[in-house]
Amino acid sequence: IGEKLAEIPDGALVIIDGERGDILVRPDEVTLAGYREKIKHQEERKAYYAELAPLPAVTTDGVRVELCANIGNHMDVDAALTYGAEGVGLFRSEFVFMGKQDIPTEDDQFKAYKEAVEKCGGKICVIRTMDIGGDKPLPYLNIDPEENPFLGYRALRISLDRHDLFLPQIKAILRAGLYGKAAMMVPMVISVSEIQRVQKLVEQAKVELAHEGKEYSDDVQVGIMVETPAAAVVSPLLAPYVDFFSIGTNDLIQYTLAVDRGNAQIAHLYNPFNPAVLRLIRRTIKSAREAGIWAGMCGEMASDPYAAVLLLGMGISELSMSAPSIPRVKEMIRSVTMEQAKQLLDDVMKMEHGVDIRAYMHKTLEASDAS
Ligand code: PEP
Ligand code: MG
Repeated sequence: IGEKLAEIPDGALVIIDGERGDILVRPDEVTLAGYREKIKHQEERKAYYAELAPLPAVTTDGVRVELCANIGNHMDVDAALTYGAEGVGLFRSEFVFMGKQDIPTEDDQFKAYKEAVEKCGGKICVIRTMDIGGDKPLPYLNIDPEENPFLGYRALRISLDRHDLFLPQIKAILRAGLYGKAAMMVPMVISVSEIQRVQKLVEQAKVELAHEGKEYSDDVQVGIMVETPAAAVVSPLLAPYVDFFSIGTNDLIQYTLAVDRGNAQIAHLYNPFNPAVLRLIRRTIKSAREAGIWAGMCGEMASDPYAAVLLLGMGISELSMSAPSIPRVKEMIRSVTMEQAKQLLDDVMKMEHGVDIRAYMHKTLEASDAS
């Protein structure tokens, strides 16, 4: 809220509504009573959501979507499983690199990934390789300040440049793969040549591990995040090279709409239902299906129950989100049919404005929206 924060008097009672993005200063009695009611309602729903946890996310006509969790470290896995996560769709490995004085060793990383993979107990655990730069700085890498860090030296661009960083990470993931179902995912891809270079490095990592006498898994899936418009546009070219796509809408939206994801002043333009964004997502999922690989989503959009219905209609296989969002998305998926989802998708793809699309989804699905 920027400067407005200073206008809030000391000691004032404030309601922060994280769901709507509202801050209410010194609310009147009626508003307060309304929010007390809302809190009570949420508490009641918790019990209901707990009952949902072991049930699959399946439409009433039998189409199943896998619901996974986004995590920052292995400790998050237990909580994710209690919310009903069917695995980890995004382990942001940069948290293993942050808060340290130096680059974590292969063994340090192996321990962190192994714990997460083990805790997943045979369910998938997608480990994203280092996504440093942009909004995630790492002081010990000594990256020069940039005018446009989001368009700069970040993520895969650093990894492909710095084999001393990337090879130990690949090796750690391959070794962790022995303890469950690990997958490796690279961020910020824009071209086929990047994937080819990743594949060569994966092969090199395997050769080095074999030489070093370290055991590793040969079954680790290698996939990419589709989070640049370039990747979505060339998704038919990328698909033959990978085992899966995971759509990273947090970045995909900002790059497609040229709207900084952290700029509150233009937050109203940052709309997942924007027709340009929907078209890129639909194209990506179609490319995956045609190539016989799975497509998931690990950006925040996956946690929106209305978006989940449209993604279902597009043929998505997996949705990964912050664990507390899982029950609401599951509830929504379990309340619709695939036919309904496809019809809604058809309807909204004819519409011109993102805000209208969201409103239309709300109006149509209101009856099944529990929130
Ligand atoms: C994304 O860009 O959608 C994503 C999941 O990655 P991050 O938010 O870490 O950039
Ligand atoms: Mg991203």
